[in-house]
Amino acid sequence: MEGRPTEKPERIANFIRNIIREDLKNNKNDGRVQTRFPPEPNGYLHIGHAKSICLNFGLAEEFRGKCNLRFDDTNPEKEEAEYVKSIIEDVSWLGFNWEDRLFYASDYFDQMHEYAVRLIKKGKAYVCDLNPDQIREYRGTLTEPGKESPYRDRSVEENLDLFARMKKGEFPNGAKVLRAKIDMSHPNLNMRDPVMYRILHARHHRTGNKWCIYPMYDWAHGLEDSIEKITHSICTLEFEDHRPLYDWFLDQLEVFHPRQIEFARLNLNYTVMSKRKLLELVRGGYVSGWNDPRMPTISGLRRRGYTPQSIRNFSEMVGVAKRDSTVDIAMLEYCLREDLNKTAPRVMAVLKPLKVVITNYPENQVEELEAINNPEDPGQGTRKVPFSKVIYIEEDDFREDPPKKYFRLSSGKEVRLRYAYFITCTKVVKDERTGQIKELHCTYDPATRGGDSPDGRKVKSTLHWVSAADAVDAEVRLYDRLFLNPDPAGDKERDFKSYLNPHSLEILKSCKLEPSLKNAARGEKFQFERLGYFCVDAVDSKPDHLIFNRIVPLRDSWAKIEQAMKSDEL
Ligand code: ATP
Ligand code: MG
Repeated sequence: MEGRPTEKPERIANFIRNIIREDLKNNKNDGRVQTRFPPEPNGYLHIGHAKSICLNFGLAEEFRGKCNLRFDDTNPEKEEAEYVKSIIEDVSWLGFNWEDRLFYASDYFDQMHEYAVRLIKKGKAYVCDLNPDQIREYRGTLTEPGKESPYRDRSVEENLDLFARMKKGEFPNGAKVLRAKIDMSHPNLNMRDPVMYRILHARHHRTGNKWCIYPMYDWAHGLEDSIEKITHSICTLEFEDHRPLYDWFLDQLEVFHPRQIEFARLNLNYTVMSKRKLLELVRGGYVSGWNDPRMPTISGLRRRGYTPQSIRNFSEMVGVAKRDSTVDIAMLEYCLREDLNKTAPRVMAVLKPLKVVITNYPENQVEELEAINNPEDPGQGTRKVPFSKVIYIEEDDFREDPPKKYFRLSSGKEVRLRYAYFITCTKVVKDERTGQIKELHCTYDPATRGGDSPDGRKVKSTLHWVSAADAVDAEVRLYDRLFLNPDPAGDKERDFKSYLNPHSLEILKSCKLEPSLKNAARGEKFQFERLGYFCVDAVDSKPDHLIFNRIVPLRDSWAKIEQAMKSDEL
């Protein structure tokens, strides 16, 4: 997507909305809309999940329906309580409410088992002794039909008996499975007698050791939807080929039959979104944890300083598609800036301080200058910022040998200090040994208080600054893209980790903030004038050692650099 969208991102037409509208018109499901968000608790949620959350909860809100939060915890091996906790936190942080509808697929194990017995009795399921390799071999390919299992024609009685003994734990892992009896020459491979239950002697985080047979995803998922009376079961595109099976199970059981609707998953450039890869980054220590501010996880984005509203707006703006595509991360950042621009108070902070002594300013004098908190929102009022003889400006805002079009401070040049005075640089003081600039000496023009000259004199630049005597010390962490390549996982031959950006984190330890930030609370967000949006780190910051994360720079400097590199290549 290019440029600034002109429309508000709300309520863009999409095919799922149209389906639901049509269903409501026909009074399908008695006019009920019920969706669900069904994460598997085997990792932290990422921005792709956020898209699914916003879609499911958003549709429910829009059509006065309900949305369930359901843990799809049918696989005992990879699931942990830590993930359940983080998912609950993330969904509610995004601002969605499942009320009393927090469900666990594992709570339906008894019901699912009963359904399986029902299929066996109908002659639609059988116990098979082929091992996983044989099952794969017998399945055939896209061009060749499969072969029927030699166990396919077991009697109902034998199947019931064997299934009961599987459940009792009489057989080791992998010895037997329960399969649906559909069609081994079906053109859709998912329909070639798929496995419904496998034997797995493993402890489950909720059911403990009660079960040693566990349902497969395709069998379980439709049942979960049916049990919860979901009307529209929204999932990602890779399940399109599974839909005939989803429908087959529910038809055979003659139970409530939700409609499965597929949409394209969200892909973002410059990041990875598979939970397996994210876990690899965490386990390998490439990031500080699931909530590292560079991670595309919801907890990472939250710690970085993203707002729920910016993520919701982004989800709506990317829309719902039927075809896979990759969204530019600049769009997510655009939504973030739009939101923070309206909400974040402006303050002054100097990240790489350069000391400036104003030689003609009275010693020990302190003035309180009035500063606007947010020009986008007059309701946020004003505050006082102290000004005194010694201040800090940004190192970058001074050049000894200014290149052409460099309008910031240099020897003999005059600039404006935001909300304060015009100053002129009169002397550069250097370390005699190293030649490094130690400080600048400047003069100020008392007549320019507030930032304007009565004689109409113009200056081309306005700098931010912080009074040295009043400055609050802080550490600031600058984040950049975690990967240098737009599609780090795209090349199967190459480890995605080889594309990690070695400069994705830069830590600045001697930043100077205006005194109003002294008591900034964890998670509080600000615009540091001219620099970007920053928030107090929710994990590491302490009142006596403030740590800020850069959420996002004001403009997308990355895009500009890339643009410049591209035009260099031309
Ligand atoms: P992964 O493959 O990374 O492990 P998953 O899709 O298996 O992720 P689930 O916990 O099963 O993870 O996902 C819960 C819900 O979120 C599912 O309905 C899934 O379709 C949806 N979802 C997952 N990733 C995305 C994505 N990138 N875009 C949109 N929806 C997604
Ligand atoms: Mg999944």
